[in-house]
Amino acid sequence: MPAPLERIRAETMRQSHLLIPTIKENPSDADVASHRLMLRAGIIRQVASGLYTWLPLGVLVLRKIEAIVREELLRSGAQEVLMPVMQPAELWQESRRWTKMGPEMMRLQDRHQRDFCLGPTHEEIITDLFRRVIHSYKQLPCNFFQIQTKFRDEIRPRFGVIRAREFTMKDGYSFHIDQASFDATYAEMYDCYSRIFTRMQLDFRAVEADTGNIGGSNSHEFHALADTGEDTIAYATEGDYAANLDKAVAAPPPARPEPSEPMIEVATPGQTSIGAVARFLERTESTCVKTLIVKGTESLVALILRGDHELNVIKAQKLDGVLQPLEFAMDEEVNAATGAYPGSIGPVGLQLPLYVDPEAAAIADFVSGANRDGYHHQGVNWGRDVPLADAQVVDMRNVVPGDKAPNGQGVIEFLRGIEVGHIFQLGSIYSEPMQATVLDQHGNDVAPIMGCYGIGITRLVAAVIEQNHDDDGICWPEPVAPVRLHILALNYPKSDAVRAAADDLYARCQAHGIEVLFDDRDERPGVKFAEADLIGIPHRIIVGERGLKEGNVEYRLRTLPDADVVPFDDVLAKLG
Ligand code: ATP
Ligand code: MG
Repeated sequence: MPAPLERIRAETMRQSHLLIPTIKENPSDADVASHRLMLRAGIIRQVASGLYTWLPLGVLVLRKIEAIVREELLRSGAQEVLMPVMQPAELWQESRRWTKMGPEMMRLQDRHQRDFCLGPTHEEIITDLFRRVIHSYKQLPCNFFQIQTKFRDEIRPRFGVIRAREFTMKDGYSFHIDQASFDATYAEMYDCYSRIFTRMQLDFRAVEADTGNIGGSNSHEFHALADTGEDTIAYATEGDYAANLDKAVAAPPPARPEPSEPMIEVATPGQTSIGAVARFLERTESTCVKTLIVKGTESLVALILRGDHELNVIKAQKLDGVLQPLEFAMDEEVNAATGAYPGSIGPVGLQLPLYVDPEAAAIADFVSGANRDGYHHQGVNWGRDVPLADAQVVDMRNVVPGDKAPNGQGVIEFLRGIEVGHIFQLGSIYSEPMQATVLDQHGNDVAPIMGCYGIGITRLVAAVIEQNHDDDGICWPEPVAPVRLHILALNYPKSDAVRAAADDLYARCQAHGIEVLFDDRDERPGVKFAEADLIGIPHRIIVGERGLKEGNVEYRLRTLPDADVVPFDDVLAKLG
């Protein structure tokens, strides 16, 4: 019988044999710890921008993560498939995404000049499979996943494998006859993801997320918490509200006070920013409003925010009548529509559709541009000076720390996160146009509700390192470490005693199925220690001549500073 893979691999885990090209200095082009350490510890090498080769230690970590993901998905009832990376344009034309997808989608032609893309995602392929093989509601619900390469020509690949152009994703897709069935699977996937990230010992948080163009209310992102994360998470200090800043909302503001000032026009020469105008008029920014002119679907439109608040682009471009993607009007266009340039625009007398954030609608006696260059109004009041009846009062700002949480519990605070997973409801936006229908119990054709579930496998490796490193290197959590144990044999080539003991230990590890990396190289102890810290294997046994004379070796955890002296025969028991 052939030896199992684990046994074969174990034989190749001598460091004298294994390719682990460590680097002493910090690479200058790596901005975050995980990227630096992945390069330095010989996990990855860059091939071109956003393209990486995974080296043996990195592959071991990927396989560990994949195994956890696969196990938990199978446990939750999903089935594994494997779809092609290269996808025919026809399917994307059916879903109307061939034109909608921008330059992030990599397009190519085969030898017959037929159009293809390198899959950035696989909704079209799975929906095509579904319509070919599944015809009855009796076959629903079903849930498929794959662990496959994705290609996205990201505008700014960065942070190593966190935002790469080619990366491994676990993507999953489910099909349902009704909402109740979808909701059950969604809840199951939510739990499944929580189990996966918990098993990886990741410090993570599930947050409500924007649903993009798709709509619907079911969307959660899973974030690995890290100061270097690209996403901002808003959470409530009490209760369990947490949402991506893209989507986070605060409690509604208190009722607007009555007007107490007359409206007057004041000269504000050269003052165009909210900060400058507020200082000039000796007001606070929160008593001013800012008016942003953007392109609407019919004309220009005005977005009005409290002066100290920031526009949330994701929210704004979802508003009915606002062009998507959001586009600010050019200065000349603003001037033609309002009679003034940006910096002096305000709602009084403005002949454009108004969208007013609730916080801006809740202040009285405010300052705003007078639609005359170099002038502002102060003492402006809704109703009296600007009719609010025709305006749309709608949330379109970023929440800020200290805002009242929407659940009424505590206040909003911010955290940074790396998005490692995303689950959401697709509805029938693929099943309908692609006519992937099934017969329901009454014999009618219905388009199933779909769900979609992603995990960034390669990004997770970086996220784990962001959370688990110190000044000396990586500190792998055991469930995702390349191997559990690192044996450092000091003076291995020259000392018969060390060689005999270390070889014996290595053989015993293999006999007991303990995954091990064996440093049998002809290197100085200092080099071995430094590289072991850099590589970050959780358990370490140091075999040296001096200890062996007493029948001892040293045992150390990567995360603890001191080693224990342990009788040679007892040391493997330390691993538990
Ligand atoms: P992001 O907002 O980070 O661009 P996304 O919304 O485009 O992510 P999805 O389409 O939901 O991502 O993909 C599922 C998962 O794939 C993400 O949660 C993330 O972990 C991973 N992922 C997405 N883009 C990349 C990338 N360029 N490099 C590595 N992993 C990625
Ligand atoms: Mg993206």
